[in-house]
Amino acid sequence: MPPARRYIHVIGSAVWVHHEPVDEGWGTHFLGVLDGEAVWGVDVPFGTDPADGAAADLYSYFGRASETEWLVAGRAVQIIEWARTHRFCGRCATPTELAPGERAMRCPKCKLLAFPRLAPAMITLVTRGEGDEQEALLAQGVQFRGPMYSCLAGFVEPGESLEGAVVREVREEVGIDVKNVRYWGSQPWPFPHSLMLGFHAEWAAGEIQCDPTEILDANWYRRDALPSIPPGISIARKLIDAWVDAAV
Ligand SMILES: [Zn+2]
Repeated sequence: MPPARRYIHVIGSAVWVHHEPVDEGWGTHFLGVLDGEAVWGVDVPFGTDPADGAAADLYSYFGRASETEWLVAGRAVQIIEWARTHRFCGRCATPTELAPGERAMRCPKCKLLAFPRLAPAMITLVTRGEGDEQEALLAQGVQFRGPMYSCLAGFVEPGESLEGAVVREVREEVGIDVKNVRYWGSQPWPFPHSLMLGFHAEWAAGEIQCDPTEILDANWYRRDALPSIPPGISIARKLIDAWVDAAV
């Protein structure tokens, strides 16, 4: 028997798994080995749907797949999206080609290499007080789909440390100063190419004053009186759950 293979077809930004590529002419990218199977990402051309509507976006795939399968599917989406958006050299506009031996698109003319893009974003749970009286700052972003409250988040800017991004973003979004910024954990976030870096920080000074362009509402919440919070797919939920369990 030939070795088992798995082909994650990326249709738009949705995924569909098949044991062979539907079309040998479509671009494929090796992703790694999972449970003894070689896993490939397949770049399905725009307007084509070999799954006949059965492909799942990464939000709905979460919960249907194991956490590892979900991470690999996210890797497929990120790599394919990178390949789709780096077809031409950013410096001289020559069509690029896959570099041999490394994950890069190379310009045959000026030799520029373009590696898969990752956008680091920090997400922070800010707390105030101690013990049972301790409260966490949760906010409703203007872009949230529903009346949900979550940790504060934002992209890291060039030249900025992660801790500096936490302090700046919290001050910009809700007008308070924080101290004792501590790294908590991370999560790939393939929408489309973020890496979420979770932090815990303590309130230092100031009252909540929301930036209306980013935050609809923000409040301090005790563990026993939480509002609607994000689903389990997100590191925000894991940060909040860990705090509720008093593990942060
Ligand atoms: Zn070039």
